[in-house]
Amino acid sequence: MSDSGSEDERELDLVGEEGDFADWEEENEEARPTRCLFSSETHPSPDAALRHAAQAFGFDLRALYKQHDMDFYAAMQCLNFARACAEEHASNPAAAAAAAVAGIARGAHRDEKYLSPALEDDPVLFDWEDFVGVGVDADALEDDQAAEQAAKRAREGGGSEADAAATARLRAETETLRLRVLELSQRLSEISAPEDELSMDDAPANVGATALVGSRRSGATPATPPESQTGGKAPLRPRGAGDAGVARKKKSAAQAVDENYFGSYSYFDIHRVMLDDVARTAAYRVALEQNPSCVKGKRVLDIGCGTGILSMFAARGGAAEVVGVDGAADIAAVARANVAHNGFRDVVTVVQGKVEELLRRASSDEAGDEKNALRKHSFDVLVSEWMGYALLFESMFDTVIEARDFLLKPGGAILPDVATIHVAGFGRNATSLPFWDDVYGFEMPSVQKSLAEDAIKNAIVAPVKGAHVVTDSREIKRLDLATVAAKDLDFTAAEVVLVARTDGVRGDEPDSSIAAGAGEGATGLTQRSVVLDADAGGPVMVHGVVLWFDTLFSERFSAETPGVLSTSPHERQTHWAQTMLHFPDPIALVPGGVPSGGGEPPETSGALGASSNPCTSIRVRVGMAKCAEEERVRGLDVSLEYVTVGASGEEGERKTRMYRV
Ligand code: SAH
Repeated sequence: MSDSGSEDERELDLVGEEGDFADWEEENEEARPTRCLFSSETHPSPDAALRHAAQAFGFDLRALYKQHDMDFYAAMQCLNFARACAEEHASNPAAAAAAAVAGIARGAHRDEKYLSPALEDDPVLFDWEDFVGVGVDADALEDDQAAEQAAKRAREGGGSEADAAATARLRAETETLRLRVLELSQRLSEISAPEDELSMDDAPANVGATALVGSRRSGATPATPPESQTGGKAPLRPRGAGDAGVARKKKSAAQAVDENYFGSYSYFDIHRVMLDDVARTAAYRVALEQNPSCVKGKRVLDIGCGTGILSMFAARGGAAEVVGVDGAADIAAVARANVAHNGFRDVVTVVQGKVEELLRRASSDEAGDEKNALRKHSFDVLVSEWMGYALLFESMFDTVIEARDFLLKPGGAILPDVATIHVAGFGRNATSLPFWDDVYGFEMPSVQKSLAEDAIKNAIVAPVKGAHVVTDSREIKRLDLATVAAKDLDFTAAEVVLVARTDGVRGDEPDSSIAAGAGEGATGLTQRSVVLDADAGGPVMVHGVVLWFDTLFSERFSAETPGVLSTSPHERQTHWAQTMLHFPDPIALVPGGVPSGGGEPPETSGALGASSNPCTSIRVRVGMAKCAEEERVRGLDVSLEYVTVGASGEEGERKTRMYRV
C-alpha cells in the first residue's frame, strides 16, 4: 500500500535487535501465488488477493482491522474465518464474503480454532500486515484522535447522547479487546510452554516499553504455536515475533498466565479509559478525600493501584501512610513516578508484586518486621477498584478478600463496602437489531439473524439507555464487602418479579437515533419485515434482561460523605456499560404490570408471553459462577431462569439458559 512505506523501510521496522528474519526476507522477495479469499482463483501475491477481496467482494481487511480495532491475533483469525466461510459457501463467493463480514461484525472469528491456518502455508497470513499497513503511525493517530474527540465532546456535555453512547461503546470494546487479547495470549502461552517451557522470560526488553507507549498492538510477542495447535499444518509465524521473541528459560504456565494478565494492565490506554470514567473515579475521590473520619491520619492500603490515583486521593485526604500494590511492573513504576512527582513520596509507598505472592511472603518470617509494609492486620483502610463486567467478571475480588483478611485490622474499613447487582427487562431498542432495519433504505435481516444467534449464547456488554429499559428494576444480590467470603461469589440469587415500568415510560417508544448513521442513514421506508414493538395500548416486548451493579460507600465507613458508584442504565454511562442477557424469543408483557381494563379479559391464544397472550410479570432468577474452562480465564458463567406469569398467577413454561461473559 502506498502509505505503508517502501519495502525496505518496512523490513527495517521488522528486524529487531535480536531478530533474524533472513528466511522471511527471502520468502518475501518472491511473488507468491495466493488463493483468492472467496473463490478458487489464484492471485499473484497476498497483496493482490487481499485487494481483490476488498474490491470484488467488499471484504476489506484494512477497513475491518481499523473498524474493529483488531490486534494481531484478531486479524489472523479474521483471515482464517474468511477462508472457512469460503469453504462453507464454496459455490457462492459473494455469499461467503457477506457471511465473513457479518460474522466478523459479531465477533464470530474470535474463536481459538481460527488461530490455525485454514490453508496450509497460506501466504496472506504472512503478508496481511503490509496490506493493512500495521505500524503506520498516522492510522493509529487518526483513530486515537477521533476517539479522543468523541470522548471530549461527550465529556464537555456538548456532545449528543449518540456521542456519549459511541464513546461508552468504544470504551467497552477497548476493554473487551483487552480481555480477549489477554485470553488468547494466555492460551497461546499455555500451549506453547509445555514440558520444555518456552516462555516469554527473555522476550526482548522492549516488551513492557512497547506496551507503555500505548501501542495498539500487544507489545508481548507471542511464542510460535507448535504444530499441535495448527493441526499439523505449517505453524503460524507471526511477523516480528521470530525466534527472538521466544525465550528458553523454564517458567510455569501459571507464571505465564500472570504475566499476560498483568501485561494487559501495562497499557496506558486501559488506565486512561478507567481514569476518564468520571462516575467511577470521582466516586473514589469523594470517598477518600471527603471522609476524614475514615482516612485522616490512617494507614491505607490500595489494592491494584494502577497509576496510583487512589493512593494519591488517600494521601490528599490526609492519610498518614498509604501502600499501593500492583502486579503489573510497568504500571507500578509509573505509580511510583506519579507519587514522587506529585510530592507524596513521604506518604505513599508503591509495592510491585502479585498480592497473593506478597501475602505469602508477608506471612512467613518477616511478618512481624516493622519495616515490612505489608504487615499482618496493620491497615485501617483498604481501598480497591476491582469491579468487572456484571461486577464479578475478572475475579479480582478474590484478591481483595485475601488482602482484606490478612492485612486489614479487625473492624477496619473497606472502600467501597457494599456491592449490589440489579436486573431489569430491556426492549428491542436496546438491542443491536434496530440499526439494521433500515440502512440507507435497505434491510439487513441476515445480519440481525447472526447477531441474535450470538446474543443468546453470550452475554453482551454494551451501553443500554434508560429509555430502552421496559420493566422496573430489582436488586438481585447484595454483598457486604467487609465480610463476604470468596465462596459466596458464586451464587444463585433469589427469584425476583419483573413488571412493566410503573413510571409512565414504556421503554419501546420510537428512537430514531439508534438507526444507521444515528438516524441520518435511515429512510423510514423499509419496515416491511420489521414488527415494531411500540404500540401505545399493546403489550411491551421484553427482549431480555440487563444486569448492572452499584458499589456503595455507605455511612458505615464514609460517615461524612457517603456515595454510590452506579452503573445503572438510568445513570451516566460508565466504561462497564451494562451486561445484556437476551431471550431467544421476546416476551410480551402487559404495560403497567396489570391486565388492562375490567370486564371480560381479551381473547388470548398461544403460550403465556406470546404477543397474542401477554403475561403480567416475569419471574427471573440469575446465577453467577466463575468459569471452570481453562481457556476462559477469569470468565464468568451467568445462568438465567425465567418464567412468565399471568393475571391469575398461572405460569408459563419455565426456561433456563447459560450465558458466557
Ligand atoms: N486503582 C487503579 C487501577 C485499577 S485497575 C485505578 O483505580 O485507576 C486494577 C489494577 O489491579 C490493575 O493495575 C492490575 O494490574 C492490578 N491487579 C489486579 N490483580 C492484582 C493482583 N492479584 N495483585 C496485584 N495487582 C493486581
